[in-house]
Amino acid sequence: MNTANQEIKPVTTRINENGNIEIGGCDLIELANEYATPLYIFDEATIRSITKSYKDAFKNYPKMRMMYASKAFMTKAMCKIMAQEGFGLDLCSGGEIYTAQSSGFDMSKTLFNGNNKSYDELNMALDLGIGTVSVDNFFELALLNDIAKSKNKTVRILLRITPGIECHTHEYIQTGHLDSKFGFDLTQIDEALELIRDEYINLHLVGLHAHIGSQIFEKQVYYDEVDVIFNEIKRIKDKYNIELSEINLGGGLGIKYTEEDKPISIYEIANTIIDSIRTHAQKYNIDEPYVFIEPGRSIVGTAGVTIYTAGSSKKVPNGRKYQAVDGGMADNARPSLYQAKYTVEIANKPNEKPVEKVTIAGRFCESGDILAKDIVLPEIEEGDIICFYNTGAYGYSMSSNYNRVLKPAAVLVNNGKSDIIINRQTYAQLCESDVIPDRMNG
Ligand SMILES: *Cc1c(COP(=O)(O)O)cnc(C)c1O
Repeated sequence: MNTANQEIKPVTTRINENGNIEIGGCDLIELANEYATPLYIFDEATIRSITKSYKDAFKNYPKMRMMYASKAFMTKAMCKIMAQEGFGLDLCSGGEIYTAQSSGFDMSKTLFNGNNKSYDELNMALDLGIGTVSVDNFFELALLNDIAKSKNKTVRILLRITPGIECHTHEYIQTGHLDSKFGFDLTQIDEALELIRDEYINLHLVGLHAHIGSQIFEKQVYYDEVDVIFNEIKRIKDKYNIELSEINLGGGLGIKYTEEDKPISIYEIANTIIDSIRTHAQKYNIDEPYVFIEPGRSIVGTAGVTIYTAGSSKKVPNGRKYQAVDGGMADNARPSLYQAKYTVEIANKPNEKPVEKVTIAGRFCESGDILAKDIVLPEIEEGDIICFYNTGAYGYSMSSNYNRVLKPAAVLVNNGKSDIIINRQTYAQLCESDVIPDRMNG
C-alpha cells in the first residue's frame, strides 16, 4: 500500500474550477491574496494520513511508540496535532522544549536529544518534566547527573550510540557512521554503563538510542540498525545482568521531492523493523523491548508547500533565464545548503504546457540563493504564483532573517478552511531584540 510520503504532492491537491491548484480545499491564489507571499501552507489531511499510516503499520507491535522529531517543523499547532495523534515529541533545544510545554503537551512523552545540550537547557528540561534524556557523551552524563542530584531527582536516560551504519544519503545528513559527532562509540558503552552503575546514581538507564541519517530510501539499514542495537543489549545483559527495555531507532524515512526519488512506504519500514526485532528477540531470548521511532521529515515534509510571487526576470545573453521570486534561501535553506531539488508548478497555470527552461532565483544577496536550477515550466509572467512542493520539513525550521527579510506566515488548510498557525513576522518584532547602547544615544 502506498503511503503519503511516496507522493510529491499533499493528498488533497487538485486543480479546481478556477483552473488553479487547490490544497486542503483552498485555492492557492486566494491564499496568496489573503495572506500574501511567501507563504508556507500545511495540509492537515496529509499530516494525519501519515501519522495514521505509522500507527496502522506498527499496530501488530503493541510496544511500539511513535515520537515526532519536532525539529522538522515545530510550532504549537503542530504539537497539538501530534498530541491528538498520540505521538510523543523528540526535542533538541530549550526552544523546542519551551514550545512543547507552552502548547500544553504531556511532557512525560518527550525525549531530549542533542550532542551539546547546555547546563541551562538540561536544567530547564528537568524543571519542565522532560520524559527521557538521550545522553550523547561522557561530559553530558556527568553534567546531567549533577543537575539531577541538585534537584533530588532521578532522570530516565537513553544512551545515544553510533551504530556504524552507512546509509546512502547526503554526507551532511548521515549520522550513524563511525566518524560522527553524535553519540557514544560502541567501544565506549561499557565505560558509560559502569559510570552510571557506580557513580551517576541519579541517572536511570532504560535503553539505547541511535539515528542513522535522513532521507533514507533503503529498508536494509533499519534491519542492520536493530541488529547492532540488539547485539549490544544482549552483550550488556550477559556482562552486567542489566536488561535494557527500550530501543529508539531514530527517524530518517525518505520522502519524494522529485520523480527521481523512490521512497519506500511506511508499511515496508514497519515490517522490516518488526521482523528484525522479533527475529533478534527470539534469537537472543530477550523480552521484546519498547521500540521508539522518531520520524520528522516524513511526517510533515509532504504536507507542506511554499508559494511565492514571481517578480523580475533576467535572460543572460546565450545563457540561463533567471526568474526571481519574493523568497529564497532565508525561508528555504535546503537548496543552497545541500543542493536539494524540488518539484515546482505555477499555481495559476497548472494546465499549461511546460515550454521554457528556467532557474528560480531567490531575492537574497547571495549568488548561491537559487531555489531550483534549470527546471522546465510554462511561461512565467510577473505576478504568477509559484508553488514549491515538499517544503514542510526543514523549511520554516531552518529559516532565518537574512537581509532582515521577515519570516513568512504559515497556514494550516483543511476542508476549505485556512487557519494561521504562524503569523508573518513584523518589522517591529524584527527589531525587538536590538539594543542601542545608552552612550550612543543623545
Ligand atoms: C533529525 C533527527 C530525527 C528525524 O529525522 P528525519 O530524517 O527528519 O525523520 C530523528 N531522530 C534524531 C535523533 C534526529 O536527530
